[in-house]
Amino acid sequence: MMMSGFAENDEWHGTLKELEKVHQEILKCQRCPLYKYITNKVPGEGDPTSGIMFIGEAPGREEDKQGRPFVGPAGKLLTKMIEEKLGIQRSKVYITNVLKCRPPNNRDPKPEEIEACSIWLKKQLEIIKPRVVVTLGRYSTEWIFKYFGLKFTKISEVRGKVYTVKKWDHVTYIIPTYHPAAVLYHPQWKEAFERDFELIKKVIEGKEKKPKTLVDFF
Ligand code: SF4
Repeated sequence: MMMSGFAENDEWHGTLKELEKVHQEILKCQRCPLYKYITNKVPGEGDPTSGIMFIGEAPGREEDKQGRPFVGPAGKLLTKMIEEKLGIQRSKVYITNVLKCRPPNNRDPKPEEIEACSIWLKKQLEIIKPRVVVTLGRYSTEWIFKYFGLKFTKISEVRGKVYTVKKWDHVTYIIPTYHPAAVLYHPQWKEAFERDFELIKKVIEGKEKKPKTLVDFF
């Protein structure tokens, strides 16, 4: 039921090229002052042909050092959840953040930084047209809800549920959960986080809500 070799398809070759072009534009971006304080931009990585996107808040110290998303302790937890709970290699999903530059000292993103940087996430979404979007934490969930015209309240209320939207020529499933860094900080949230990944697995396998579209896709 999983991935069906879309990378062989000409259309997907085009997608990969377009995405790479956006990554190159991000590397040159000076739309907000954050670029002045970083070591590396973190555009995103992974396989967009899976149609599965994980979206976090912003790069941290290790991500800034390596120029890759989710490679620090929170990234290790996310990778473990993707590989052990979903049974998918991390490299087979696409992972990015709302902000592509690390805010100094890992402070929260400012609204004007999110506003400036969201042009890139919009482009990534429009190229990938994902079937499944997993939002990690409040900032990415709030942004994605606004983008798809959904009402955001708070992460603890909206997490653990599946939201369906039709923006492109197919249904997209949005599943909010906690940010893995928050789960490391609040171990009492781990159980809910794991349950959310069980839900994500059901959606990917077409066992949750209107599965036909997903079965067709995978
Ligand atoms: S955070 Fe985003 S908008 Fe700001 S400089 Fe970095 S890439 Fe550009």
